[in-house]
Amino acid sequence: MYANIIVDITHEKLDKIFQYHIPASLEEQIEIGCEVVIPFGRGNRETKGYLVGMTDKCDYDPSKVKEILRIADKSVAIEAKLVALAAWMKEYYGGTMIQALKTVLPIKRQENAKVKRRLRLLLTEEAGKAKLDFYLEKNQRARARLLAALLDDKVLDYELVTKKLNITLPVIRALQEQGVLVLESEQVYRNPVRSQKQESVSFTYTEDQLHAIHTFETDYQAADYKTYLVHGVTGSGKTEVYIEMIDRVVRSGRQAIVLIPEIALTYQTVMRFYRRFGDRVSIMNSRLSAGERYDQMMRARDGDIDVMIGPRSALFTPFPSLGLIVIDEEHENTYKSEQVPRYHAREVARQRARMERASVVLGSATPSLEAMYEAKKGRYQLLVLPDRAASQQMAEVYTVDLREELKNGNRSIISNQLHELMQERLEKKEQIMLFINRRGYAGFISCRACGYVPKCPHCDVSLASHRNGKMVCHYCGYEEPKVTQCPECGSVHIGEFRAGTQQIEELVQKEFPQARVLRMDLDTTRAKGGHEKILAAFANEEADVLIGTQMIVKGHDFPNVTLVGALAADMSLYADDYRAGERTFQLLTQAVGRAGRGSKKGEAVIQTYSPEHYSIVAAANQDYHGFYEEEIAYRNLMGYPPVENLLAILLFCEDEKLLEMAAGYLKEYALRVKCSESLQVIGPATPFVGKMNDVYRKVLYLKDADYDTLVTIKNKLEQYIEINSGFNKLRIQFDFNPMNIF
Ligand code: ADP
Ligand code: ZN
Ligand code: ZN
Repeated sequence: MYANIIVDITHEKLDKIFQYHIPASLEEQIEIGCEVVIPFGRGNRETKGYLVGMTDKCDYDPSKVKEILRIADKSVAIEAKLVALAAWMKEYYGGTMIQALKTVLPIKRQENAKVKRRLRLLLTEEAGKAKLDFYLEKNQRARARLLAALLDDKVLDYELVTKKLNITLPVIRALQEQGVLVLESEQVYRNPVRSQKQESVSFTYTEDQLHAIHTFETDYQAADYKTYLVHGVTGSGKTEVYIEMIDRVVRSGRQAIVLIPEIALTYQTVMRFYRRFGDRVSIMNSRLSAGERYDQMMRARDGDIDVMIGPRSALFTPFPSLGLIVIDEEHENTYKSEQVPRYHAREVARQRARMERASVVLGSATPSLEAMYEAKKGRYQLLVLPDRAASQQMAEVYTVDLREELKNGNRSIISNQLHELMQERLEKKEQIMLFINRRGYAGFISCRACGYVPKCPHCDVSLASHRNGKMVCHYCGYEEPKVTQCPECGSVHIGEFRAGTQQIEELVQKEFPQARVLRMDLDTTRAKGGHEKILAAFANEEADVLIGTQMIVKGHDFPNVTLVGALAADMSLYADDYRAGERTFQLLTQAVGRAGRGSKKGEAVIQTYSPEHYSIVAAANQDYHGFYEEEIAYRNLMGYPPVENLLAILLFCEDEKLLEMAAGYLKEYALRVKCSESLQVIGPATPFVGKMNDVYRKVLYLKDADYDTLVTIKNKLEQYIEINSGFNKLRIQFDFNPMNIF
């Protein structure tokens, strides 16, 4: 037997695997992830390495292959566990061991020290409160918000304040000039926030919260490490429940990871964890530099922190004794990696928990079909929080049939009912969110006479019309002047097809000239910090209406928003994708959940051309189970995940002919090695984006009820690809149960 070994994982030498012989004496004990001692280099220096794979075929001259000396003394190192996890990921998702290792191991990079800034409150509690009243009286909301935060926590991280509290620099400057705070700089990295721990909770938990906490606690203490699915409506107090569960784990001397989609990692959420766990908490986000992230990982490894909060990659925090992984908003697409290995955090969390004897808690208001399916099969334990904790009411929802609207002579994208409600809100000085269920900011251009669609010459996608008079490619940025006449048939009836956020903004301005409108989409958020600026302005009530795409409905609480309009709710239903119904339901449920988060009751209007579609009906009725039953029946009928499993094989190549041939060969091979009667092979097809940056793409789908069958085929295909040099010019990736059809 031979061992594939990676030497020195903390350095960039990562990308090489060395082969060693496994002596018979070690064959019994050795396993993947083990740290071993090997003779390395010319001088046969004793070096440690990780065993990442075993094989009986040697890629080198066997007489020159050296032998492993022994298993390292403390081969239960934290890294070894992650290496073992990487090995599992490689098997389960495909790709190389190096790719998997780069995903799970913290990698050190050299970089310059960054200056950290923080704000410190200079006023006494009393003076601060007086000042706060003054700001509130003057209606200086941003100033009030900052001061209120400083009164809670005397020292705040600058980034946290600007990015998460949505405070701009001029506001900070103003408070500095007034002697309220001081802006300090610090060279070394420490914890983003220093905060006082507060043990006491100011409210009593609901019955449902207590039940969830106790169930977890009882199992955990009995070392019965399960996976739980917390299904709780927005505002039902899920976060409080996680905090209590984490508290139990931390008190038992173990650590916890909390995954939260980056967009939902708001200042308020982060502070709740800090208040409870003080500086034993760390956050990971994309704004941290690589060096800072590495530092956080090392602090975790060295036992300096107990809780790590962050997006997907925080899953690989090298805690010495991990006890719990929480995944909030478990249904979010961002939990699936788009890079090889294309892993899903939910599945990897379960695997890591299995290996380390830890519990997993998944939470959502709209659980993914996958999670609920597992719960119904009894593999996850369901914990339900059906009501809002702080006795706020759920919003009242109205559905408007846009076809009827048209019949009644209203050709506007704003229905009469929505118009009336908007008018009322503007009069009451309450805020409105208008959500357009579609990515992109401008309409598709097409010829109404012949159907011609202008496309990007480098990417197989249609060009979108822009205000600046150009047509632009969203994928590569290519642009050309807008056409006024169809190049195919000469018709002048060529133009934008559907309303985007820009058009809606114009319409709202026209219909409500007094309204102050903000628009948030790819266009207005492209500039650095654009996203935060818009949210800050809306939070400060500098605008009455916020118009936007998906990005406005996630994770933000605006207490003064009492009306939400989903303008064309069914647009995402037309996507040619088996998850379209699920995505539409989740988005609408989230959108509706944005209305009435404060003390005032909210209303929501869902406008649609398909009011009878179950995704729309269920979202309007806030009926998760109704939706689930319909959707699972459809998945069942079609054999789609989670009922069956789907493996997408993506092929990329600059040479279109070669790509086609290769795709054909792979299909044939897959059919030949077929190890299941039920296996279906679909394609090869040209994906939605058939070409990007002059690289052509094809996709093949393999479908089978049994995941392991697909893994077996994937392994055989990987071998086949490796030994046939014809595939060298292609890039081939595997994607198990993809989040969308390509
Ligand atoms: P979720 O994570 O389910 O959206 P949160 O944990 O954020 O819910 O709770 C929503 C709000 O309700 C928060 O402001 C929280 O402090 C508050 N809250 C949570 N549990 C209770 C409770 N038992 N009584 C009163 N308020 C609560
Ligand atoms: Zn035409
Ligand atoms: Zn392009």
